[in-house]
Amino acid sequence: MHSQFVVAGIDIGGTKTSAVLCDRAGVVLGSAVVPTPAREGGMAMSNAAADLVRQLTVETGLAPVTVGVGAAGVIDQETGTVTAASESFTDWAGFPLADELEAALGLRVRVENDVNAFLHGEMSYGALAGSRDALGITLGTGVGGAIAIGGAIFTGPRGAAGEIGHTPGYSDIVCTCGQVGHLETLASGRSISARYGERTCTSELVSSEQVADRARNGDEAALAVFSDAGRALALAIASAVNLIDLQDVVIGGGVRGAWDLLEPVLMATLDDNQPVSGYSLTVRPSSLGSRAVALGAAAQAWQLADTA
Ligand SMILES: [Zn+2]
Repeated sequence: MHSQFVVAGIDIGGTKTSAVLCDRAGVVLGSAVVPTPAREGGMAMSNAAADLVRQLTVETGLAPVTVGVGAAGVIDQETGTVTAASESFTDWAGFPLADELEAALGLRVRVENDVNAFLHGEMSYGALAGSRDALGITLGTGVGGAIAIGGAIFTGPRGAAGEIGHTPGYSDIVCTCGQVGHLETLASGRSISARYGERTCTSELVSSEQVADRARNGDEAALAVFSDAGRALALAIASAVNLIDLQDVVIGGGVRGAWDLLEPVLMATLDDNQPVSGYSLTVRPSSLGSRAVALGAAAQAWQLADTA
C-alpha cells in the first residue's frame, strides 16, 4: 500500500452505484460503477457499495481512511440509517446503512442524502467552490433540493429540508407524490418527457434528452416545455433565496444537459424576481457532472477523517 491518504466517496442512486477514491483536493484516483440492485434489498445494495470500495483499493493500491456515502432516500444523519425511501427500493427504509458498511469494510462511514451530497460536492470541489450559503437543485427523474447555511448542509429535524421539488403552485398537474402542482410536475426529466407528450398528443415516449434536441431544432412544443420548466424553476429559486437569504444556486442532474434551454427563461424570470436583499444571485450549472454526489460524499468522508 502507498502512504498517500485517500477517502472513498460512494453514490447509491436508483439505477447506478458509483464510487471514487480521492485525495483531499478532490482529485479522483480511482472510480468504478455498477448497477444498483435496488430490488434485492438494503443488504444487497450495501454489499455492492462495499465491493466497489474493495475493488478500487485493489486496483489503485490505495486504502481509504474513511468512507462517505450519498444515498437516495431520507437519511438520519446521526445514525446513517435510511428512514424513508421510494417504492422502487426494496427493504431500503429502515436499513442501517452506515452500520452495515462499517462492519463490511472495517472503516468509519458517514451517510447523507444524495442531493445533500451533490450540493456538498459542488461547494467543495465544483461550481460553488468557496460558497457558504447555497441552494442545490437536482433535475433528474424527480426534482431534489438541498440547502447549505454557513458552510454546513441544513438537513432539518427529520432530514427532509430542501424538498423544493414538492413545493406547490406551479401547475394543476398531479405530482409523483400524489399532490397537485408541485415544481416536479414541470421541471423533472420525467415531467419534461410527459409534458411534451401531452402538448404533441403523442403516445410515443420521447425522453427529456430527445425533447431537448427537438427544442434546439426549433420544435415549438419542446421549446414551450423547457420554457415552463425554466420559469417554474426560477420562481422556486426566488422563493427559496428570499426566505433564507441564500447567495448561490447550483443546478445539476440529468436535465442539466439542457442548461442552454433552461438558462434564458430562468435568468429572465429571476431578473423580474430579484432578492429584496439587493444582492445579486449566482446561479450556475453543476461542474462535477455524474461524479458530484460521490465527490460530495468524499468531502463528508474527509470531515469524518478530521474528527478522528
Ligand atoms: Zn410532489
